[in-house]
Amino acid sequence: MVFTHDTELALASAAALINTAEETPDALQTLQDLDAFVLAEQYSGTRTHDDAELAAVRALRPALREIWLAEEDAAVVLANKILRDAHALPQLVKHDQWDWHLHATTPDAPLAQRMGTEAAMALVDVIREKELARLKTCAADDCNAVVLDLSKNRSRRFCDTGNCANRAHVAAYRARQKKS
Ligand SMILES: [Zn+2]
Ligand SMILES: [Zn+2]
Repeated sequence: MVFTHDTELALASAAALINTAEETPDALQTLQDLDAFVLAEQYSGTRTHDDAELAAVRALRPALREIWLAEEDAAVVLANKILRDAHALPQLVKHDQWDWHLHATTPDAPLAQRMGTEAAMALVDVIREKELARLKTCAADDCNAVVLDLSKNRSRRFCDTGNCANRAHVAAYRARQKKS
């Protein structure tokens, strides 16, 4: 394990959220899409189930993507902004099947704020550990998905949204065939 369990889960959820925008069609277009995402990523807390909630979560995607791709100083500024705007107040909590972990917002804060704060808290760990290089984008030419590299030797290159690793291997194979 590179980070604590809850940090790794939060980072994976942040990557999944960012990558909904990279799917064709966009995987977060309707409230049903949002319900499915919240269920799949097991976000707790209250929901409003309205267009404003969906719009706020959609707007969080480019904000998180910007941090994901940022250099350290810029990532710090952006993560701090999310935490400040949410009036983040870290508290240890236990709920559902999860043992003690940090929440920095109350369960009645808006969904997008809770999602953003959870991601920002995880990014705090990444930044402090000097591990921002583990936040990557997919190495496939035609893919902009983000990649969370939690591998031991930092060797992960492709996203898991599509079939990028396979396509890259086939392309490399074809290129080799052409040359010979
Ligand atoms: Zn929790
Ligand atoms: Zn990819």
